[in-house]
Amino acid sequence: MTASANPRNWDEFCAELGDIETIRDRAQVAKLSQDYNHFSPILQSILQEKIGDVVVRPTSEAEVLKVAQLCVKHRVTLTVRGAGTGNYGQCVPLEGGVILDLSKMNQIRRIEPGVAWVEPGVKLVAIDKQARDMGWELRMVPSTYRMATIGGFIGGGSGGIGSINYGQLRDRGNLHAVRIVTLEDEPQIVELRGDEVQNVNHAYGTNGIITELEIPLAPAYPWAELIVTFDDFMTSAKFGQALGRSDGIIKKLVCICAWPIPSYFAPFRDILPQGKHAALLMVAEPSWEPFQELVKEFGGDICYHKSAQEATKGTAIAEFTWNHTTLHARSSDSSLTYLQTGFPEDPELKLVEHFYHHFGDEVIPHLEFVRSGGNLRPSGLQIVRFTDEARLNEIIRYHEERGAIIFNPHTYILEDGGMKAIDVRQLQFKQKYDPHGLLNPGKMRGWWESQS
Ligand code: FAD
Repeated sequence: MTASANPRNWDEFCAELGDIETIRDRAQVAKLSQDYNHFSPILQSILQEKIGDVVVRPTSEAEVLKVAQLCVKHRVTLTVRGAGTGNYGQCVPLEGGVILDLSKMNQIRRIEPGVAWVEPGVKLVAIDKQARDMGWELRMVPSTYRMATIGGFIGGGSGGIGSINYGQLRDRGNLHAVRIVTLEDEPQIVELRGDEVQNVNHAYGTNGIITELEIPLAPAYPWAELIVTFDDFMTSAKFGQALGRSDGIIKKLVCICAWPIPSYFAPFRDILPQGKHAALLMVAEPSWEPFQELVKEFGGDICYHKSAQEATKGTAIAEFTWNHTTLHARSSDSSLTYLQTGFPEDPELKLVEHFYHHFGDEVIPHLEFVRSGGNLRPSGLQIVRFTDEARLNEIIRYHEERGAIIFNPHTYILEDGGMKAIDVRQLQFKQKYDPHGLLNPGKMRGWWESQS
């Protein structure tokens, strides 16, 4: 295991924390230092040995403030953890120190029509369950919604099931307000509203500890779960695009998987025909009739249909989409990895088609349709047969040279993944509220470049 950059007497440090729960057991700390970065062979080789020194589990904002004060006093690094389901090592501590596990800050403060006020450690599924009793639900959730926390989704996620209607988490309006604890010489609590929330939205916990959130909700529909198969991949992709653009058909998920991806979905093996491409969908039950017409137009075959009522139990289709698709592929063959790709808006999906034919079995298309900047676009989470890093970079280059944007999932550095550029606002926010660079060190390129 990597030596900590925070050598100190941890017994004394924990004693100063008083009643706040701490974990020192090396095996447990090691487990709570990791996430799903093993989806990437490149990240796994860099991150698998990284380990914090102590896990601290506060139960309130006041306790978070106390931990922050102690970390500043002793110049101890601090990495926030929700449920640890991130897949780029976002919550892996590169320099040891404190792992601040917020899973015990899991209160739903209140829900009103269209808005929820929650603590960061609440699981997304718990918010949805309570909101649904009032006819509302989260606007979007990652496919890890049963495990992941709302704080971790905002800190490290991007979008998911529901993004076909509401876009991505960073789109204005998808996060109303947050309260954060800072790591200044005198840590304080700061509330951010409106565009100010973007200072900490998708910042990997590098510039503030979120202790409360105000989240907008969507009206809840009875969602039927469906799988439609097609003989031809491009027909399935164009069906996905047409469904996404069918404003009169209410849907929450449009996921297209080229063969052989459907063969990785063990629970559906008996119903998914060999060699066929599959659309995994969530469609509102009142839209059933027009939906069937669209399927007929594209020559698809509905091979799976679970009513909204049945969908509350058993296998959830969402857990085969987004990065769960990668999870199932890797369960079948652990040498498989993935890419994340933004495609330009194009009614004919020419780039999707070009890459499909160009790469053949080496890069297998998996598309999630999302609303982006007012348009509908396919977002790729292609399954990649990994040979080595040089070939992976060649594949990335080939995509980028042809106008696709790769949100590289093989880096733990904020700006080199989805962000693409240094976010000056987030950097200035860190300079003000984490002047000693204690929060999740090594993840924000802008920070260390500004220090050298
Ligand atoms: P963690 O992994 O614990 O943390 C994520 C980041 O947020 C870390 O940098 C952490 O330091 C920071 N953080 C956590 N809590 C706070 C806080 N209170 N204040 C400040 N920073 C904080 N992501 C998607 O966006 N969409 C998907 O559909 C999706 N599907 C996935 C499928 C699989 C199988 C896997 C393994 C991952 C997937 N992910 C997806 C990534 C991840 O599951 C989600 O982003 C999830 O919401 C992260 O939540 P978490 O509680 O596990 O966060």
